[in-house]
Amino acid sequence: MSKDMMRAFELYQPDSVENAVELLGRFGPEGWALAGGNDTLDWFKDRAKYANAVVDLSGVEALRGIRETGDGVEIGAMTTLTEIESSELIQSRYSVLSDAARRVASPQIRNTGTIGGNLCQDTRCWYYRYGTDCYRAGGTTCYADTPEGQNREHCLWGADRCVAVSPSDTAPALVVLDARMVVQNAEGEREIPAEEFFIGPD
Ligand SMILES: Cc1cc2nc3c(=O)[nH]c(=O)nc-3n(C[C@H](O)[C@H](O)[C@H](O)COP(=O)(O)OP(=O)(O)OC[C@H]3O[C@@H](n4cnc5c(N)ncnc54)[C@H](O)[C@@H]3O)c2cc1C
Ligand code: SF4
Repeated sequence: MSKDMMRAFELYQPDSVENAVELLGRFGPEGWALAGGNDTLDWFKDRAKYANAVVDLSGVEALRGIRETGDGVEIGAMTTLTEIESSELIQSRYSVLSDAARRVASPQIRNTGTIGGNLCQDTRCWYYRYGTDCYRAGGTTCYADTPEGQNREHCLWGADRCVAVSPSDTAPALVVLDARMVVQNAEGEREIPAEEFFIGPD
């Protein structure tokens, strides 16, 4: 008898950024960074995406917290949306960001959802989520870019083949604040202006 079960994966729980980066580099496209799991587990449970190795970032303490720096504030990728929403520092200096975090979904999702996951979550275009072979999924057609398409949440300007947008409420706030994203992989670290962080499919 066969059962429909979520596909098994190996779970890795690094406790440092270096170990997490090494694991994600080692597994490449077979690996998956897990933060709060709100988007990740949607994909896995829908059997729409899977990974052979899941790298759980929850034990990486260095990725948590909000710290004042000489020229601004540093927010760790694993900081929850609730922590951002309720931070007095963010409220007083960058209220557009605390307001944006407060708008995300429900308290339960904000309690577990992280800023890193909120920024990196995949698009919520329903054609893509329901597994069509659209352009973003490697096909040749954008089903949303038609007069009858369900595209109310999609972009009006600047689309190139895929008209979906990032569903992140915190993304526009970080763009207007001229935030810089610190991105790290096995080859090193670099900073990317928030405005250039969000890109469409090639
Ligand atoms: C019912 C529902 C309603 C929602 N409504 C809203 C809404 O109104 N506004 C909104 O903005 N969002 C909304 N979301 C999305 C939700 O905010 C995100 O799913 C959540 O913030 C993702 O964060 P997470 O920590 O759970 O990330 P995960 O689900 O663990 O990860 C999401 C993605 O980001 C990647 N990732 C996570 N952290 C890192 C990292 N540090 N480095 C590299 N990659 C990383 C993961 O590999 C994965 O691909 C909703 C989600 C649900 C389920
Ligand atoms: S908007 Fe993008 S994700 Fe949605 S159907 Fe078109 S190509 Fe696919």
